[in-house]
Amino acid sequence: MKLLRVGIVGAGQLGRMMALAGYPLGVRCVFLDRSAASPAAQVAPILVGELEDADQLAALAACSDVVTFDWENISGKALEPIEKLTRVRPPRAALEVSQDRLAEKALFSKLRIPVAAHAAVDSKEQLADTVRKIGLPGILKTRRLGYDGKGQFVLRDPRDVDAAWSAIGAAGMIYEKFQEFSREVSIVGVRSSAGQIVSYPLSANHHGGGILHYSIAPYVNSALEHTARNYLNRVLKALAYVGVLTIEFFVVKGRLIANEMAPRVHNSGHWTIEGCVTSQFENHLRAICDLPLGSTRPLGHAAMINFLGTMPDRTRLLGLDGLAFHDYGKEPRPGRKLGHCTILKKRPTERNSALADALKLIEWT
Ligand code: AMP
Repeated sequence: MKLLRVGIVGAGQLGRMMALAGYPLGVRCVFLDRSAASPAAQVAPILVGELEDADQLAALAACSDVVTFDWENISGKALEPIEKLTRVRPPRAALEVSQDRLAEKALFSKLRIPVAAHAAVDSKEQLADTVRKIGLPGILKTRRLGYDGKGQFVLRDPRDVDAAWSAIGAAGMIYEKFQEFSREVSIVGVRSSAGQIVSYPLSANHHGGGILHYSIAPYVNSALEHTARNYLNRVLKALAYVGVLTIEFFVVKGRLIANEMAPRVHNSGHWTIEGCVTSQFENHLRAICDLPLGSTRPLGHAAMINFLGTMPDRTRLLGLDGLAFHDYGKEPRPGRKLGHCTILKKRPTERNSALADALKLIEWT
């Protein structure tokens, strides 16, 4: 059987889980990243270099049947030349849209997917003006390069404008109305080059300080799931997308408001490794390698908990029945995603009590 070679820009934990999913399929991943100690480099070969270095990217393309990425902030310009050497999937246009919160919201709106009231902000005066127009509370965010709640400031009072601007103010910001959501959910889906689309059940996501703490899936709500799937399909088709894409939503008064999308596998989809017939990682590889997509059917009721800042006691966690443990091989640092665990149970009540037991053993630092 011919091995398929996938080049991956960025060698973080997402790439690592992709490489691990690739082995049984006969798909071999090779990475480009700055450090030979990166999470993915511990399980697959790596070219060590800058992610946007033209020569390194060309070298990656030369040894790959298809190139993808586990880090969505690589510039589209840097990827453009390698499109002449090999296929780049998902398409560069999807990457570029998702790198700018304003462009992302414009795409959602064009596709009639609801978003929070928002406006571009480039100066303190404009922020004050926008706060008056859109109202409070609201969030000032960087349009680019923000993730896991970084580069964000919540404003509750007109007098917060000064503090917000001195904390994170710069050209290229967005101000958006704060959403009083009852829940945050996400949908992970995948599209093949032939246009086949499959998606996973909704996941309900619990954040702290802007970063994902844990997810519960399937989050059973057929009306919301139907709508989320519909929105996801619109985005996948509009971008002629190939691979896995994730959309995160706020649930506000029973309606879905799109927050952002990620042109890649997603933290809220990690539960699919043990929780579904085919994981998000395997399905991404299948899609970009032109293999048939796998079933997204859930195998039970799952909870996925992130390990942030400190690794928990492995022995105690593994003592819990039905728990799978994932260590990304990273140095601990406050707030850093170091690993996760997934609990899979037959019934939601069993899952919920196992989740409560596991949470007692995990501390986010
Ligand atoms: P983001 O980087 O946009 O995913 O934001 C990180 C987290 O901050 C989200 O998952 C929410 O918990 C919170 N957040 C971001 N934007 C808003 C908003 N407009 N209203 C309420 N909460 C928000």
